[in-house]
Amino acid sequence: LQEHIVKSSPARYSSTQACLENDISGTDNKGFKGHDMLAPFTAGWQSTDVDPLIIEKSEGSHVYDMQGRKYLDTLAGLWCTALGGNEPRLVDAATKQLNTLPFYHSFWNRTTKPSLDLAKELLDMFTAKKMAKAFFTNSGSEANDTQVKLVWYYNNALGRPNKKKFIARAKAYHGSTLISASLTGLPALHQNFDLPAPFVLHTDCPHYWRYHLPGETEEEFSTRLAKNLEDLILKEGPETIAAFIAEPVMGAGGVIPPPATYFDKIQLVVKKYDILFIADEVICAFGRLGTMFGSDMYNIKPDLVSLAKALSSAYMPIGAVLVSPEVSDVIHSQSNKLGTFSHGFTYSGHPVACAVALEAVKIYKERNMVERVNRISPKFQEGLKAFSDSPIIGEIRGIGLILATEFVNNKSPNDPFPPEWGVGAYFGAQCQKNGMLVRVAGDTIMMSPPFVVTPEELDELISIYGKALRETEKRVA
Ligand code: PLP
Repeated sequence: LQEHIVKSSPARYSSTQACLENDISGTDNKGFKGHDMLAPFTAGWQSTDVDPLIIEKSEGSHVYDMQGRKYLDTLAGLWCTALGGNEPRLVDAATKQLNTLPFYHSFWNRTTKPSLDLAKELLDMFTAKKMAKAFFTNSGSEANDTQVKLVWYYNNALGRPNKKKFIARAKAYHGSTLISASLTGLPALHQNFDLPAPFVLHTDCPHYWRYHLPGETEEEFSTRLAKNLEDLILKEGPETIAAFIAEPVMGAGGVIPPPATYFDKIQLVVKKYDILFIADEVICAFGRLGTMFGSDMYNIKPDLVSLAKALSSAYMPIGAVLVSPEVSDVIHSQSNKLGTFSHGFTYSGHPVACAVALEAVKIYKERNMVERVNRISPKFQEGLKAFSDSPIIGEIRGIGLILATEFVNNKSPNDPFPPEWGVGAYFGAQCQKNGMLVRVAGDTIMMSPPFVVTPEELDELISIYGKALRETEKRVA
């Protein structure tokens, strides 16, 4: 593989685009090499030296680049275009709202109908625990930043000014603003940004395959992690810990479904010390796991919930925080005392975003999307897990329509391939060459296709995956 590594920067090992440029004839965006964006999650050299993949059009589960090449978009954009690339009802909802009221805000008890309707709809839909209020943001990161502010405001109102620390988990992804990046448990989001903020602590990543002790069952592993969490709380002082935040299934950190009994045991600990539970449902909500919310799948009873992504099927930027009555009552009385609840964004409850989200949610219900995910996901999960025997695959894990493949040597989590081999990037490049986009993070490959993916498209996905795997095996052998 060495010859496929671009010369100067070690970071290039992990670039699918670099693999394509050097190994596979380039992406041929002549005239577009080098661009003016400080591009998110992109290295500087990538934006100057490597042709970007410019996506121009989407249709169902596929996207098209500038040259008209068609790709199966197995990550649904960024885990978000749940209804695929051209749902006309969402376009109509946006157009109608743009033609009536393109903008009005929700400050000072002025608001718009779509935002009120969406709030009501979300509160009705979330049944794992009763929720009383919805607060709207523009993104998942803003939703999680808002969570921290709500929890601090709540504890200040209750006269507990020291109960302010947050516990998140190693490998969690909660966003990239200052506070949500602090909650995130990935070193790359902290490095050189002076993060995490000191009030954020991280506990174990619940990845059984990688971290279990010899002979330890999943249940025992969960017991040990709950005990570690309790030890951390006791060490810090329970009176200082405000909240625990978790994705039901960890997403960007590597698609890590929880081990058996994990959330039961974690919730007991959190409850014991009067610590709020925040479910970050930004990826898991609206059917991705085969239940309407991730909290339904794992019997989580959160005090606060973060939503975004599939909330509008990503057709408009929008996020939301759902707040339980216990928390919102306290916030309500405190704001009465202070005269206002001074938090919000110009675009909180943006009417066009809310109108689109309302329509998306209506479609999930009308088309029984949860049932659809349950019907088609066995093909996705079993079709890909059939490749588990590959000598370069350590684990294929997932649930519903979300899955990751981790490449390792000797099938051992303790035996990674040298990063300079760029195994994951090479696999990603082979997928791309064959008309499929996957998420490459080091040697972990992630997928979360749109809920509307068809059985035929899943056949295509599995076939391209198999082809890319064979090519990758040949390179590594
Ligand atoms: N929370 C989770 C679980 C996510 O996966 C993401 C984004 O991937 C976020 C929060 C942040 O959302 P955004 O990128 O919309 O700020």
